[in-house]
Amino acid sequence: MNIYYSFILTLVGAAAIIICSTERKRRLYSERKNRYLQDVINQLDEQAKMIIKTDMALNRVQEELDKKITGLYTLHELGKKINSTLNIDDLFALIKPALVSKLGYSNALIVLKDKASGKIGVKTAIGYSDNEIKKIETRLNKEGFASPLLRKGKFLLVNSDMKKIEHEDIFSDIFKTELFLTAPIVARDLAVGFILMGNPSSYAKLTEGDVEILSILTSQIGTAIENTNLYTELFDSHQDLESRVKERTQELARLNEELQKLNKVKSDFVSAVSHELRTPLTSIKGYASILMTGKLGEVTPAQKERLQKIDKHSNSLTRLVNNLLDIARIESGRMQMDIRENSVKDMLDSVIDIITPQAKEKNIALKINVKVKPDRIKADPAQMERVFVNLLGNAVKFTPEKGRIIISCHENKGLVEFSVEDTGMGIPREDVEKVFEEFFRSDNALDQKVKGTGLGLSLVKKIIEAHKGRIWVESELGKGTKFTFTIPK
Ligand code: ADP
Repeated sequence: MNIYYSFILTLVGAAAIIICSTERKRRLYSERKNRYLQDVINQLDEQAKMIIKTDMALNRVQEELDKKITGLYTLHELGKKINSTLNIDDLFALIKPALVSKLGYSNALIVLKDKASGKIGVKTAIGYSDNEIKKIETRLNKEGFASPLLRKGKFLLVNSDMKKIEHEDIFSDIFKTELFLTAPIVARDLAVGFILMGNPSSYAKLTEGDVEILSILTSQIGTAIENTNLYTELFDSHQDLESRVKERTQELARLNEELQKLNKVKSDFVSAVSHELRTPLTSIKGYASILMTGKLGEVTPAQKERLQKIDKHSNSLTRLVNNLLDIARIESGRMQMDIRENSVKDMLDSVIDIITPQAKEKNIALKINVKVKPDRIKADPAQMERVFVNLLGNAVKFTPEKGRIIISCHENKGLVEFSVEDTGMGIPREDVEKVFEEFFRSDNALDQKVKGTGLGLSLVKKIIEAHKGRIWVESELGKGTKFTFTIPK
């Protein structure tokens, strides 16, 4: 029995031992599990904190990025307007409160230094009263605080994470802003002013992004100032040039008027003198003819020879006087052209008849060259005859014996073109332009003692111009000369 009990007791004991050890094991296991869980929770907590931190940093970057994009977009829009602005005041008027607030500020100033006086002037002010603007100008001018703000390439930042600046408090006081940023405006490589953007409170800090945006704005404004200055300079010089041209034109008109008056005085004088000469000339010629007839007494051969000379010279003097009178009359418009239809053939035949004896005397061949023959032209026949007689007379005069003269005529674009070409002595190059001037005779004509007055071509030119035509000359010394003139058909 005892054995039985002891066996039972042993069993119970063994069971109790087994139960006890199982319980301990379970407790140990539970404790370990709890510790593990605590570690996991701690780790998760750490990670959550990290995520929140990263999220906040990301938000800040996002905000900064948004601000930059808004700033850049605003500047892009402003840039388009600035590019089409050519007036400096219009340029400053573009900086409006809305634009400043889009860039994240409530206050803005654009300050320029006058090139001539060196005075500092506020051109644009946002967020300031008139009184405050005056005070800012006075202080910047008097206390010389503007100099550090006008240094090329130098940005001033107050209330940023970046370096502090000297006189920060004074600047804050001048500009009434706790937080601000200034940048110099550079035009043609010179700092001509500065821009300030700021806020009365320093709630947000200034960053590199703000500096970048303001530097873009200042360079936009600097370039625009350069452009408007260039435009103004160009405009001014254009105006100056225009007024100088106007002045010169007026001066020329005045001189022209004076010249016309003088010309009229000259024509009147020549006219008057010629008239006065004509009457005694007619008498001289008349008396010489009467004497030559012998009605007033016998005339010896020697006397006759002298009388013939008087007659010949008074004839050429009469021609000269008549030419002078006609030039004066055409110039003053007193001579009306009797313009009517004429047969070209008849006209040329008639002048050939006149000139043939002179040409024959020198054995000069006369040739007519007509390409597309115009049958009829509208002109004053008597004056046209004078033109041809003068041109052909000169051609005969200035062409040596056995030479050749060609008269050409053709029609071209509604104009009839005539030319008289000879194989004569030609005109020196320097004299070609002068042959139509009154009394001009070239040296080679004088050297060769060819007679003349220097009035024929001047009269010819006046007659052609009175027919709304044009005359010119081409010549080669020693080879020949060609006079060409056109008149409307
Ligand atoms: P003039 O013949 O009476 O001298 P013109 O006015 O007719 O006056 O001519 C002016 C000058 O032009 C002449 O003196 C002469 O020097 C030059 N000239 C005109 N026609 C010719 C010509 N066919 N050949 C050479 N020279 C000429």
